[in-house]
Parts: sequence; C-alpha cells; structure tokens
Amino acid sequence: MDKRGSTRVDSDVLIIGGGAAGVAAAVTAARQGLSVTLVERYGFCGGGAVAGLSGTVCGLYEATENPSSRPKQVVFGFADQFCRRLEAMGGLADPVLYGKTWVRVHDPQVWRDAADAMLRDAGVRIIFHAVATGVHMDGDRIDGAGIWTKQGPVDARAKLVIDASGDADVVAMAGLPNFIGDNGRVQNPTMIFRMMGVDIERFVAEYGADTIMPEKVSALIRSKHNAGDYQLPRAKIWLFATTRPNELLCNCTRVIGPDGRELNPLFHQDFTDAEIEGRRQAREYARFFRDNLIGCENAFINDTGVQVGVRQTRQVSGVKRLTNADVVQGAKFADGIARSPWPIELHSGEKPRVEWLLNDHYEIPYGCFVPERGEGLLVAGRCLSAEHEAVASARVTAQCFAYGHAIGHAATIVVRNKLAPREIDGRDVRSAVNADGGQLG
Ligand SMILES: Cc1cc2nc3c(=O)[nH]c(=O)nc-3n(C[C@H](O)[C@H](O)[C@H](O)COP(=O)(O)OP(=O)(O)OC[C@H]3O[C@@H](n4cnc5c(N)ncnc54)[C@H](O)[C@@H]3O)c2cc1C
Repeated sequence: MDKRGSTRVDSDVLIIGGGAAGVAAAVTAARQGLSVTLVERYGFCGGGAVAGLSGTVCGLYEATENPSSRPKQVVFGFADQFCRRLEAMGGLADPVLYGKTWVRVHDPQVWRDAADAMLRDAGVRIIFHAVATGVHMDGDRIDGAGIWTKQGPVDARAKLVIDASGDADVVAMAGLPNFIGDNGRVQNPTMIFRMMGVDIERFVAEYGADTIMPEKVSALIRSKHNAGDYQLPRAKIWLFATTRPNELLCNCTRVIGPDGRELNPLFHQDFTDAEIEGRRQAREYARFFRDNLIGCENAFINDTGVQVGVRQTRQVSGVKRLTNADVVQGAKFADGIARSPWPIELHSGEKPRVEWLLNDHYEIPYGCFVPERGEGLLVAGRCLSAEHEAVASARVTAQCFAYGHAIGHAATIVVRNKLAPREIDGRDVRSAVNADGGQLG
C-alpha cells in the first residue's frame, strides 16, 4: 500500500468486467501464460447472463426454415467449452426451439460456479466488488485503471487493458471516441424473472415447444391490456422451462419511461426508473400468467434479475464497424475473429423485431474491437463497434464468449510481441482462435 492508501496491482492484462466476454478473455490470456487481473463490480461473474438473468445461451446454432431438423452448431472455441462445463455441472438444458433456431437454457447459479472454476484453474487474479472509476493515461496510451474497493483505491497497471464492461466504461473514461445506439436511442431494458410452481407438462402441452409464445397468448395479452385489466406493454413474449423442476424463465417485460421512451441505463435516473418499473411489470405479468395461462395457476415469482437486463448502451468507435448489411448478408472477412448465426433481435418499439439469417452466419472482423484512437486498449463483448441493428444480433452470449476468446488471443500477441493492438493482423488472431478450437475455418 502506498502513502495515499492505494494498493498497486501489476499484470500483463487488466480486464474490466466479468461478463461472458471478460471471463473468456481472462481465461484465454491466462492459459497462454500471461498474468491477468479481472475486475468485477459484483461478487460473481456473468453480467447480463447472470445478474441480468438473461436465461439462455443464444447464438450457437444456425437458423433454418425447417427447425425440426437437428441444430447445426457453428460457434465453438470457448463458448463450446463453457457450455460443456455448464452441462457437466447440470446447469445447461438441451437445445430448445426459439422460432427458427435453438437456444440452451442455463442455470445462473451454476454459471457463477463454472466461471469461478475456470478462472481459478487458469490462474486469473479476480477482484470482486471492485469498480473501475478512472484510467491512467500516458498521452493517448492507457496503462491501467483506478479501481474502488471497500479496502480503498487500487491502482491497477497493465501492458494491455481490455474493456469488457459492456458499457465501454474504460473507453468513455479515457475520452476515446464512442457512440450510443441509433443517435442516442437504445434498445429497451427488460427485467427478467423466474416463476416456480408451474406445471410445465400442462404448460408445454397447451402452448407448444417453441419458447416464443404462440399468437393466442399475444392476443390474450393485448385484449387484457386494452381492457385495462392488466398493464402489459409487451405482447410478444418468450417463456422458457429451465433446468430446475416446475420453473419458467420469463422474458416478457418491456421497460420504458412514462413518455414511452426506451430508457437508457447510462443515465442514472433512467437506470433507477428501469429497476423500479421492471419489478412492477414482473409482478403484473406474473399476475396475468397465474390468472390466465394453463399450468401457471399456482406459480409465484422466485426471483428477478439482480439488475434489470441491459441490452445496449455505449459502444466503442472502432477502426472497423460491423454494419447492418454485414449481418443480413452473412458477410465473411479474412480477419473475421468470431462468427454469429443469430438473427437481428431488435427490442425497440412495441414489439421485438426478429430478422432471420437462414442457414448461414456472418463474421465479425478484428477492427470492431480496436478503438479508432487510443493505445493500450482493446474491447470485448457487447460494446463492440457495430451499427444499431447489427448489435441487436451481435450482442448475445455465445458471441460475447467468442469475442473474449479472440481478444484474449489478441492480447497475447500484443504483449508477447510488444506491439500496439492496431499493429497486429486480425488474420493472426483468427489463426490463434482456430488453433484453440475455434473452427472458424
Ligand atoms: C433482457 C436480456 C435478455 C437477454 N437474453 C439473452 C438470451 O436469452 N441469450 C443470450 O445469449 N443473450 C441474451 N442477452 C444478451 C446477453 O446476456 C448479453 O449481451 C451478454 O451477456 C453481454 O456480455 P458482455 O460480457 O459483453 O457484457 P455484460 O454481460 O454486460 O458484462 C459486463 C460486466 O462488467 C461489469 N462492469 C461494468 N462496468 C464495470 C466497472 N466500471 N467496473 C467493474 N465492473 C464493471 C458488470 O457488472 C458485468 O458483469 C440478453 C440480454 C438482455 C439484457
């Protein structure tokens, strides 16, 4: 500890944020022999997938017009490893139908344990209950971050910093170029909740195997809402049976402000309002389910997310930007470092819009993770450089794992060769991912 009470921590790589991307980046870089410190504001990893209770691993399988066929997996590497770990620990269900593709429901408690074990096995230093509050800059170069813990300040220095905060916090604190959604408009947050006491057999017999609820459920929601019986602002909803008996995971709320505006969790008042409104809506949907849906007569809310689920906030302006056209056209790149078969799933306006990419996937180039300006920094996860609708596809969990996997390898190349992130060739990162089970081809 220095005179001012600050503790100094030095590493090759400092990662801010322990969501899917941060965990994958930390484990990958540490397995390559780098010293890695991971800083996370909660007391567990998982971010949107765990604190936000997102519920499923999306983005592993291609979509098809004929979803009765077997799912075709196209994302491997760390995403696949993490899924196998979850599966071995009893925390991952078999693929279930989601429209024209499949998702896998995970248990958020097991997710935490799996992440702890993988980080520990790789030798990552974890600092929980720690918030990055500032950056150390040497000109345009970031060489660490100021962290606040209950012990006091931690001065974390590293050869490379990875912003896996989801919100591009490090980018913003360094004053580097960034942007927010579609001219400031972001996708709405959703408060996910779980209900126990559900008769799953009767529920599935009535509403079918597709986790996107059928039109008859949407029509009932609309009519009850319009009659003033319940306040249910979203009619197209997704309900998933989980790995636990008699439980449904409910992705159905649409958290908007009183003026109908999509709340932006970057603003502290919007974030606060979103939590309160999200819990209120969870209670209202639960009441509707109990009164109206077969199998839910005795259901009760088990829990809501630790925080409201945040889909989109601030993103880095990268040397490249994934475009909406790249997604719908299934673009491939020589320096593509990750794949995504996930549709554009845009939660904006009254009804989520899903635009499918059939029997194909697109790739995300390395430059989407390299800041346009500023050295010593890479990003990983949903704060990548991507247009508004593109990020509505590129943000899901399997892809965030894949970005972390690739950026962990990029970090290794940077540190070992004493290069700047912008100096390395994305094709080398692709090769490293391929050599580590990524199957990018
Ligand atoms: C409502 C909702 C439903 C979803 N449903 C699905 C789904 O069914 N399937 C799917 O695959 N995906 C789903 N997603 C998307 C997916 O969960 C996320 O996009 C993905 O988890 C993002 O991962 P990430 O690592 O980029 O960021 P995050 O998960 O946001 O992780 C960022 C981490 O950084 C930490 N952090 C942030 N700032 C700081 C700081 N300053 N200091 C220290 N720590 C910090 C946070 O606590 C967090 O743990 C959903 C998302 C939402 C919001």
